[in-house]
Order: sequence, then C-alpha cells, then structure tokens
Amino acid sequence: MDKTFKFAGVMGWPVAHSRSPVIQNFWVREHKLQAAYGLFPVKPENLADAVRGIRALGIAGCNVTIPHKVAIMPMLDVIDPLARRMGAVNTVVASADGSLTGYNFDGYGYIQCLRDAKPDWKASAGPVAVLGAGGAARAVVLSLLDEGAPRIRLINRTRGKAEAMAAEFGAAVEVHDWSERHEALTDVALLVNTTNQGMHGHPALDLHLDRLPKAALVSDVIYIPLETPLLAAARERGNPTVNGLGMLLNQARRGFELWFGVQPQISDELRGVLAATF
Ligand code: NAP
Repeated sequence: MDKTFKFAGVMGWPVAHSRSPVIQNFWVREHKLQAAYGLFPVKPENLADAVRGIRALGIAGCNVTIPHKVAIMPMLDVIDPLARRMGAVNTVVASADGSLTGYNFDGYGYIQCLRDAKPDWKASAGPVAVLGAGGAARAVVLSLLDEGAPRIRLINRTRGKAEAMAAEFGAAVEVHDWSERHEALTDVALLVNTTNQGMHGHPALDLHLDRLPKAALVSDVIYIPLETPLLAAARERGNPTVNGLGMLLNQARRGFELWFGVQPQISDELRGVLAATF
C-alpha cells in the first residue's frame, strides 16, 4: 500500500466559514487519494511560524485567505509572475525540496466561472463596470484586461484606491466616482461587484440598474448568499447573472492539481454538496 499521505489546508483568520475543505475533500474522495484538506486558523502574529510549519511538517501546501494574502508574500521562496502582478497570493505549493511557491488563481477562477456560465462570453464584448478596488477587484480587473477587455470603469467608495489601481494597470482602466456608479452602467457589457456589499451580514449594494443594458452580464464575486440582492434585482429585470461560487470552485481546481497531481472537475454533485452547506 502507498504510505504517502498528502495534506493541505486553508490558512486564514477567521477561517471556520471556509468552504474550501468541502470542495477539496470531495475531490479527494472522488479520486480515492491518500490525502486530506483541513482548516488552518492562523492569527496574523503567527503567520511566519505557520509558513515555517508548512516546510517542517512536509505539508503539500495551502490556500491563503483574509488577512494573509499579501503578508505571506515575503515569506515564500518564489512568487509566480501573475501573483506578483496581482500583489497577492491565494495558493502556496511546496516542492519536494521544501521550497514554497505562491500563486494567485482568483483571476483564473473568475474568468472560468464566466465561461462555465456563458460559453460564448468574450471580454472584448464591451465596457466593463467593476465595483470595488480591494483584493478581489485586483484579480478580476487584471484577468479581464489580460482577456482583452477594452475598457474598465473602476468605481470604489474610496476613490484614491481605484486611482492607485488605474495608475498601475494602465489607460484601459478609468476611474469613476462612487457617486457616479448608477450612470456608469450605461452601455456596459459586464457588471462585476467585488465589494463586500450584499454578502451575508452586510447591507445590500446600493446600486440602481436603470441604465444597465438588459443584455449585460451581471456577476458578483460573493457566494454567501448564492444570490445577492444585486443578482436578484438583475435577474428580475432579465439580465443574465453569475454568482461567486464558480470563481471559488475554479480557483480550487488549480491548487488541487498542483498539490495532489489530479485534474478535478466541477460536477453537479459537487455543486449540490456545496449548496447544501449554505
Ligand atoms: P477587500 O480587499 O477588503 O475589499 C473590500 C472592498 O469592498 C473595497 O473596495 C471596499 O471599498 C468595499 N467596501 C467595503 N464596505 C463598503 C461599503 N459600505 N460601501 C461600498 N463599498 C464598500 O476585500 P476582498 O478580498 O476584495 O473581498 C471582497 C469580496 O469578495 C468579499 O465578499 C469576499 O468574500 C469576495 N471574494 C470572493 C472570492 C471567490 O472566490 N468567489 C474570492 C475573493 C474574494 P473601500 O476601498 O472604500 O474600503
């Protein structure tokens, strides 16, 4: 019998709410692997010790979530160029020699979730409106630009953060004031919410959709709840919608493949198992 047992997990604080163990352990069972994926609740002051622990314990790697995505970067041996551009890491992979590489698959997950929902989707279809300028926005904006989005209207409550992002990502990103968010939806092909507004425990995003074309795709990176008030309002007026679960599932595929050596698929059964946890 194969005596190797691979272990991975998600490092965050707090982390108990994470659905990553449900996804990863579903695939472990599906592929009958000698492996497991757990929760690593790591306080910010313990992050450096926890990273040394990955090497010391021979763990295959981990996902990284709030608040460690940026802070972990200088503690790793190699940063993948895309993660470097995003300025954050969401997946760590340990090599046989113990060296640790940081990746960011959030942008990949986002683009894939649009493709899964709408196979004919193209970033070049027209202007995109992105609400928010935090970590999720960086991954979404950068991957949309890499996919060929012609113009991105970046709208954030704190305008300075959007301006800093636009200065970094180039002229295709234009900043609109938070007060202009309703008008900024005119003629967009894709609207993305990357703020936490509409997430469980937070108020709904304050956004009027009157100017939004009926054909525009509306996506929310939030997945708790699966249908945010924004997505419900968009669906009711006839817009196609995509929730944040596909982004989570698709980024998870990349880590699983790197840690455990198998390419997993997102099946209806997995979606069902996950949906039952909400
Ligand atoms: P973050 O870096 O803290 O950014 C939060 C964003 O929300 C900022 O743009 C912030 O604006 C905005 N915001 C907060 N309160 C607001 C308010 N009252 N009104 C308007 N805007 C407000 O967080 P993040 O890491 O980007 O995460 C954002 C969301 O994405 C979370 O709900 C997270 O769960 C989700 N997410 C999902 C996935 C997935 O796989 N589906 C992956 C990553 C993140 P200011 O700059 O003005 O503070």
